[in-house]
Amino acid sequence: MKITKTVGSYYIGEGALSHLEGFLNAEANCLYLIDHYFEDGRLENGLPLKKGDEIIYVNTLHEPTTEQVDEIRQGLKGTYSEIVGIGGGSTMDTAKAVSNLLTNEGKAEEYQGWNLVRNPGVFKIGVPTISGTGAEASRTCVMMNKRKNLKLGMNSDYTVFDRLILDPNLTKTVPREQFFYTGLDTYIHCIESLGGNYRHAMADSYSEMSLALSREIFLDGDMMEDANREKMMVASFLGGSAIGNSFVGIVHPLSAGLSMVFGAHHCVANCIVMNVMEEFYPEETEEFKRMMDVQNVQLPTGQCDGATDETFRKLYDASIVHEIPLKNALGEDFKSVLTYDKVCALFSRM
Ligand code: NAD
Ligand code: ZN
Repeated sequence: MKITKTVGSYYIGEGALSHLEGFLNAEANCLYLIDHYFEDGRLENGLPLKKGDEIIYVNTLHEPTTEQVDEIRQGLKGTYSEIVGIGGGSTMDTAKAVSNLLTNEGKAEEYQGWNLVRNPGVFKIGVPTISGTGAEASRTCVMMNKRKNLKLGMNSDYTVFDRLILDPNLTKTVPREQFFYTGLDTYIHCIESLGGNYRHAMADSYSEMSLALSREIFLDGDMMEDANREKMMVASFLGGSAIGNSFVGIVHPLSAGLSMVFGAHHCVANCIVMNVMEEFYPEETEEFKRMMDVQNVQLPTGQCDGATDETFRKLYDASIVHEIPLKNALGEDFKSVLTYDKVCALFSRM
């Protein structure tokens, strides 16, 4: 039996952002971390900003690093007891990490792992502007640690948002391909969870409901029409809750290989891997390809063109190191299925 912490409460629906003020303490100073896409100030008019608050625009050209989180923490102008993270997985994860560092001394990397955060972070509100990673629901915040060549989050109950604002108006401007790649992260979380050995009714139910929504969104009509963007916010939340209760499978480890070796972003890398998963997830791979067709989305190709033996070795090492999800998918003996040659053959097709 395991007690899993979930988000306290949320507003959902068009215009939900106008309720942000109701979640904030009028007496407290608030730190806003906002995706740099909104740097032109277009969002600021809709925020309940007051004296003593600070806004930092988070550069999401690259996925968050421990160094970037430490820099933000060290550069703060004031002291804050509330944080609002407005953006995609990268910005929400940055907000969660900074929240933990405001009440726990030291550097971000000291808390990469499981249950290392000692004190609850400051009160934090998540406001997704792109949906799919489930970062708004999960108990982690993923960061690259370049020094240790490691991509890992602060897995902790203290990394769960206290409140959420789920406003589909905010995802209108997401570029189509990005909307698809990030949205499919949810689909992939759920098929990996349902395809694993570690199963239970709570995780399965979240996954099944999230998959049903994903199918409505991506197999029928335009994924970005108003109703679908709202459904995508729900699917993402449920998918994040599913994975908070279970484990991923084969796609995420191989995707992590692409991220570590080539710097590929999480969600596009997942889609690149999913596209060659016929042997492991046959029906889902076929369905994934239909979704790409229906939404008229293309994938980058030729990831390993010209790759040397050394590069393949790095890809293999960076993938096979993820033992927990690989055991979940393939059992204790996963290395006899995912042999070096098999992994190289898969990467060659991406
Ligand atoms: P992102 O936050 O990296 O943003 C992707 C791009 O979309 C950026 O260029 C950003 O500027 C742009 N963007 C965001 N909102 C926009 C909008 N409304 N209009 C126009 N452009 C917009 O995207 P993501 O895919 O949501 O997040 C990926 C990150 O999430 C990775 O770092 C990954 O490791 C992490 N992740 C976290 C969890 C978790 O549970 N914490 C789970 C999965 C992935
Ligand atoms: Zn993912």
